[in-house]
Amino acid sequence: MSGIPVAKLPFSERARLEPRSLTLEEVTLSASSLTLLEHCPRLFRYVYLERLIWPSADVFEHEREQQQGRQFHRLVELYSQGREVESRLPSLDEEVQQWWQVFLASPHAHPQGRVFAELPLWQRIEGFKLIARLDRLVITPGSLHIVDWKTERHRPLDRHLPKSWQVRLYPLLLCGVAEQLPLESPFHPEQVQLTLWYAQHPQQPFHLHYSTTAYEQGLADLKATLTHLRQLEAQDFPLTPYTERCSSCLFRSRCYGLLPEGIPPEEIRDWVWPSEVQISPEDPPMD
Ligand code: SF4
Repeated sequence: MSGIPVAKLPFSERARLEPRSLTLEEVTLSASSLTLLEHCPRLFRYVYLERLIWPSADVFEHEREQQQGRQFHRLVELYSQGREVESRLPSLDEEVQQWWQVFLASPHAHPQGRVFAELPLWQRIEGFKLIARLDRLVITPGSLHIVDWKTERHRPLDRHLPKSWQVRLYPLLLCGVAEQLPLESPFHPEQVQLTLWYAQHPQQPFHLHYSTTAYEQGLADLKATLTHLRQLEAQDFPLTPYTERCSSCLFRSRCYGLLPEGIPPEEIRDWVWPSEVQISPEDPPMD
């Protein structure tokens, strides 16, 4: 196919690595995948159904930031489990060590109540599997508090955050599974709150108090999105009409025969298919 760099792997090896594509029933939808769907339906297909990944993703500058984010999340997870973390600090990125000190000085270092770290929630809605992995859930009488750690430099404006899929999906799925949680009193959505805590902007957390109205509206919106997803599938996941999004897209050569901007040609080989690797954070059991 013209425009697509040829893989260096022999055909037999590629065949071994190439898994079959997933169907919409098999894929696990998360805030990330729904965000990507909004960004470009075709990109959603490449990443979540065909499971294509780019082998030289480490050339991108955000790779270091992702690594820092993973280190910080792991530290907080271990700390929340009562594990010792101080001995790990010297081997970590200097900036992560600074964030850790900021975290220790915050109220989140000493949560009151029952604390769950890296808690996966999943629910089947309209035949789709949906998942959210909560960085932290703190349960106290009459309150379920979701806390998500953010390590990015840029802190989005408050007016944009309620539209993000993470802010919409996490409380919604928590409400959907709340009956399975160890609560001391009957549940209602008004008990749910969400905080996004920014390690680089600790004085500017984002808070959301949920409600029955927000839950009902959020569920209706999600179902409309899932119906739209079926329609996009019937249209073979069209390319985004917002072509300005394509200039730095990793898959520009697939769609238009053009290489993405800002990547040295020697770094570009081909897409590869992970043999057993799931893009989604966790594949829940089928019901
Ligand atoms: S190049 Fe454009 S249309 Fe193609 S996947 Fe990327 S964003 Fe979507």
